[in-house]
Amino acid sequence: KIVLGIETSCDDTAAAVVDETGNVLGEAIHSQTEVHLKTGGIIPPVAQQLHRENIHRIVQEALSASRLSPSELSAIATTIKPGLALSLGVGLSFSLQLVNQLKKPFIPIHHMEAHALTIRLTHQVEFPFLVLLISGGHCLLALVQGVSDFLLLGKSLDIAPGDMLDKVARRLSLIKHPECSGMSGGKAIEHLAKQGDRFHFDISPPMHRVKNCDFSFTGLQNITDKIIMQKEKEEGVEKGQVLSSAADIAAAVQHMTACHIAKRTHRAILFCKQRDLLSQSNAVLVVSGGVASNLYIRRVLGIVAAATQCALLCPPPRLCTDNGVMIAWNGIERLRAGLGILHHIEGIRYEPKYVVPFINFVKVT
Ligand code: ATP
Ligand code: FE
Repeated sequence: KIVLGIETSCDDTAAAVVDETGNVLGEAIHSQTEVHLKTGGIIPPVAQQLHRENIHRIVQEALSASRLSPSELSAIATTIKPGLALSLGVGLSFSLQLVNQLKKPFIPIHHMEAHALTIRLTHQVEFPFLVLLISGGHCLLALVQGVSDFLLLGKSLDIAPGDMLDKVARRLSLIKHPECSGMSGGKAIEHLAKQGDRFHFDISPPMHRVKNCDFSFTGLQNITDKIIMQKEKEEGVEKGQVLSSAADIAAAVQHMTACHIAKRTHRAILFCKQRDLLSQSNAVLVVSGGVASNLYIRRVLGIVAAATQCALLCPPPRLCTDNGVMIAWNGIERLRAGLGILHHIEGIRYEPKYVVPFINFVKVT
């Protein structure tokens, strides 16, 4: 079995060809980051236009690299939700055209399912396992019980941690910091935090009285904003210039982010173990998403994993962020499990409701 995967849910146009054993036969990606950095965020019609301009080339590149003829593909898998509707639409209409032309089955993919299953391409991981997805757009904890069997344990009630770190970095003007040029907000915070004292500012952890596995990051962002404003006054620095206490602030916000994520994850592990949803001795915790590349956060999660006898696994960085490989691999997983293939796609437009329900809700008490 060989699947072509296509991903356009946000700001990356990506495609890949993956076989049943997880070999990546060809892949290509076009990132729009540079354009969106200039506008200070993603403008959906701009993202849509860039996807339109690149999708044909990216899919061709992935196919050529695989040295396969399109007739050798078993199916075409494409992200259909969640994401920016305009971006998703480009991938979907392109895929449906291709599917019609090649007369291949179509596999609709849930972007979060793909992120969660990626680890099974790179490591031998059996169901069930716990997954923590932390990026610029996602924040969730789920128990993965099967290819399409997810138990949602917690999610962010507001923004994702990467989004919060990006906002703090922008507020701290880290883009102007000589050591942080070209870094994402989260990466700049991690870099600067190494030179700071994480206990210099007394910030309390978010939601510490709420005993479930949900997350919240806007509170942290607001507290940090207040500290920055106060420091600007004290240091006589104008808004937009780098504070001398920037490193301490970065260290404090990174520390609190790590503690908050670790605490919710700890609770999720205990919850699953108490109910025998996870193995007592062989449990696996998978951490993925752009924020998972933060070594401080990983170290704190490592402590939680060790304390609860879990193995901590992360996909390699290039598979932690959006990519086509995870979509193709999810297609393979679905083919193997006999799930979710659409043979009759005539007349189907972007209509996300036809996906198998992703998640049920459970609260930890
Ligand atoms: P999606 O959420 O749809 O997967 P995204 O572009 O929002 O896509 P990713 O590409 O997975 O997210 O990751 C980008 C985010 O990860 C950004 O918010 C960035 O600040 C954050 N990030 C990247 N490196 C680090 C790091 N070393 N420490 C903390 N955060 C980081
Ligand atoms: Fe993603």
